[in-house]
Amino acid sequence: MPQERILVTGGGGQIGTALSAALRKQHGDRNVIVSDIKPPAPAYSTQSGREGLNNKTTPRQKGRFIMLDILNTQRMAEVISDYKITQVYHLAAILSATGEWMPEKTWNVNLNAALQLFDVCREQGVRKFFFPSTIAVFGNSTPKAHTPQHTSLEPTTVYGMSKLAGELWAQYYWKRYQFDIRSIRFPGIISYETLPGGGTTDYAVDIFYAAIEKGHYTCFLKEDTYLPMIYMPDAIRSCLDIMNAPAEDIKVRTSYNLASLSFSPAELAREIRTIVPDFEIDYAPDFRQEIADSWPSSIDDSAARNDWGWQPAFDLEGMTRDMMQNLNKKLLPEAVSS
Ligand code: NAD
Repeated sequence: MPQERILVTGGGGQIGTALSAALRKQHGDRNVIVSDIKPPAPAYSTQSGREGLNNKTTPRQKGRFIMLDILNTQRMAEVISDYKITQVYHLAAILSATGEWMPEKTWNVNLNAALQLFDVCREQGVRKFFFPSTIAVFGNSTPKAHTPQHTSLEPTTVYGMSKLAGELWAQYYWKRYQFDIRSIRFPGIISYETLPGGGTTDYAVDIFYAAIEKGHYTCFLKEDTYLPMIYMPDAIRSCLDIMNAPAEDIKVRTSYNLASLSFSPAELAREIRTIVPDFEIDYAPDFRQEIADSWPSSIDDSAARNDWGWQPAFDLEGMTRDMMQNLNKKLLPEAVSS
């Protein structure tokens, strides 16, 4: 098999940080080019080979990093060609809550730039392309429980609109050009390595920091708001599994529903209390409540399970325990080692 050369866009973000590490393990440091519009996390080697400093709150990263704005199509084309890229994980995007503050820019970054990149990659013979979608493609007319793979799609945010349009273009590129784009509709992602980037499910990460640092959290969603979520190790495995599956197994060419956890803020707070008994939570819903209310509470992911063998590993209890352990190590290393 020829050596893969992989480009990750938006690689400095929540998913990109963890995914890049997993890709480097699979393909070797030299063969994974991580890019972002913002400067690298400390200790990435940049093109000049200089290494930054490590710190307590950012995971130590090794490997190749380049600064790259996905709106700069010409530079994107040069990078794909210069590095002889064979696979792209296109993570760069503006997320649901932030997107509502800048709708036109969000459409431009999330859809127009993705379309340009589909074209550049197709023309230059990139073999596989990963395009993450989201539960934000669903809307108020979508069944809320066990949301089916094929259902009503009337997103309420510009983020959801842009990702839905991207899904349809992905399917079009497969049918018209056999350009192999694979996609997953991610639920909210929970991780301890990097802070989330302005989504509606961010509370499910913030709450852990608050539990450890303050013992108290004010949640921006109501206590009974059930949303689908996934723990980062499961999310990363899903990306690798779908990209490593044979092309003929990928039958959904828009984007796969993916399920793992489904819980409310009150349930998560109860689970955290099994580890931090004095933890307190109160609720001050803001504009993100309306977005959350338009999303499903749980997802039917049988197509992903049947087509490429998706199976999550973490339940609510396992995820909570692992988050608390790792965040304690990161935020209070002295306490953990003493
Ligand atoms: P994030 O906000 O943490 O990371 C996105 C990265 O994209 C950031 O590092 C940002 O600097 C970069 N970026 C933004 N504009 C750019 C530009 N013009 N050029 C280059 N880079 C740019 O987001 P994430 O949570 O890591 O999400 C990654 C992908 O997964 C996104 O496409 C997102 O839509 C999707 N997704 C995430 C979640 C979640 O809960 N985190 C859920 C569903 C889907």
